[in-house]
Amino acid sequence: MQFIDLQAQQKRIRNKINENIKRVLDHGQYIMGPEIKELEEKLADYVNVNYAIGVASGTDALLMPLMTYQIGQNDAIFTSPFTFIATAEVIQLLGATPVFVDIDPATYNMDSDKLEESISSIKRTGKLKPRGIIPVDIFGQAADYDEINAIANRHDLFVLEDAAQGFGGSYKGRRIGSLGNVAATSFFPAKPLGAYGDGGMIFTHEKQIAEDLVSVRIHGKGATKYENVRVGINGRLDTIQAAILLAKFSLLDEEVQMRQEVAQRYDHGLKESVQIPLVKEFNISAWAQYSIRHPQRERIVQALKSKGIPTAIYYPIPLHLQKAFINLGYQSGDFPISEKTSGEIFSLPMYPYLKHDIQQKIIDCIKYSA
Ligand SMILES: *Cc1c(COP(=O)(O)O)cnc(C)c1O
Repeated sequence: MQFIDLQAQQKRIRNKINENIKRVLDHGQYIMGPEIKELEEKLADYVNVNYAIGVASGTDALLMPLMTYQIGQNDAIFTSPFTFIATAEVIQLLGATPVFVDIDPATYNMDSDKLEESISSIKRTGKLKPRGIIPVDIFGQAADYDEINAIANRHDLFVLEDAAQGFGGSYKGRRIGSLGNVAATSFFPAKPLGAYGDGGMIFTHEKQIAEDLVSVRIHGKGATKYENVRVGINGRLDTIQAAILLAKFSLLDEEVQMRQEVAQRYDHGLKESVQIPLVKEFNISAWAQYSIRHPQRERIVQALKSKGIPTAIYYPIPLHLQKAFINLGYQSGDFPISEKTSGEIFSLPMYPYLKHDIQQKIIDCIKYSA
């Protein structure tokens, strides 16, 4: 059994993918070919923002907006310690300081009450300048953007949405990817919209940010490629990946719906045995992960393993306790909700094509071992 089966999807659109790749081989524009613009326009339209910029990975999609905001030394960026390393890595890479804010125990997303406290505390101390917030749409569910954007406005901060797990989901009827000043998503193969390699996209309503990002994406280019107006990176999305994504995108809405059904079957089967995920009534999760928790996680994981059922732990170590961030001086106990969650949470096989009988086997095994 696979944790995420990508073959089932491929079987449905294999011909279309082959056709799209063939078209790229025929026109030969491997870098910044016409498929990039086509995908950007489609996804901007889907998310309902003015601009989309295809980039090389979800990590670059987080890094590049921070570059356009000229984030660097003495700047504080507020984010969650309960996320993939990339979210905070990009802050530190630019010489700025990630300031962690503990999570809501029900949704695992940034706790907006604690966000306000943390901003005030950084302001009082006066060493760092608060500049922005990176909320994460963890496991596919949007953070609480009405709250977070209100706080950001009060303190004159930007909001960079880490939508790497949330693409395809929505918040109060608005698409994930449109909820802050700028949003980053990832096309890593296992994400809700995945390529066959690395890729990512940035979304924004704001013209100036979009123009700056287009420059950062190609080494800080000005009017021409060999006039450089800033320091940028090689942050381009490959044409072939865009061509593959165009084929896969046609299935996204249907697949998000199929994921709702998989999640409902898990919910129904598991609610008496473990703590199932809570999705707020105004959210539609993209279900990048279906994550459950139990104080005796190891026992259940081993029982599943003995039946050949894979699981994964997202995330076993909260970021404030990672060696990479030892310089920040955090200690065990600083973010108790994140720490407790890391000790109890684990994720089950989740993909649109998960078969009923396999899912029932997973549910039964958890029921008897929990
Ligand atoms: C996957 C992921 C990223 C990074 O995306 P890549 O495409 O692998 O660089 C960033 N943030 C979160 C929350 C992710 O899940």
